[in-house]
Amino acid sequence: MSDTEDTWKTLFGQMGGEYHPPRLVLFRGAVDSACGLASSAVGPFYCSADSHVYLDRSFFEALAQRFGAPGEFARAYVIAHEIGHHVQKQLGITEKVGQQRARAGETRSNAVSVRIELQADCFAGIWGHFAR
Ligand SMILES: [Zn+2]
Repeated sequence: MSDTEDTWKTLFGQMGGEYHPPRLVLFRGAVDSACGLASSAVGPFYCSADSHVYLDRSFFEALAQRFGAPGEFARAYVIAHEIGHHVQKQLGITEKVGQQRARAGETRSNAVSVRIELQADCFAGIWGHFAR
C-alpha cells in the first residue's frame, strides 16, 4: 500500500498535481462502508464515496489456495488495482464515468464498467512497472 503511495505521489507530482492516498480498511466476514454493507463474497473493493480501500483478509487466503496465486506480487497487484480506482477518482474519471453511465443504457453502461476495470488494471500495471 505504501509503495503505491510512493509511486502515485511521484507521478502526480510530475503532472503538477498532488496525490492524496486512500484509507485502508482490513476486514473479515463483512464490513459497513459508505457504499453499503459488503460481505466477503464481494472481494476487495474501493468505495469512492469515502475514498477507502476495503480488503477482505479471507480473499487473500482464497487467492493462494483456490486461485493458485500465492505470493507477494499477486496480493500487491490486487491492492494496486483497488488503488487504481482511487487514482481514477483523483483524476476525475470516476465522476465523468458516473455521469456517462447515468445517461447510457444498460449495454453501454456495462461496457463502460468493463473499461473502468481494465483501466484500473492498467494503473496497477503502471505501479508494477515503477515498483520493479
Ligand atoms: Zn476493480
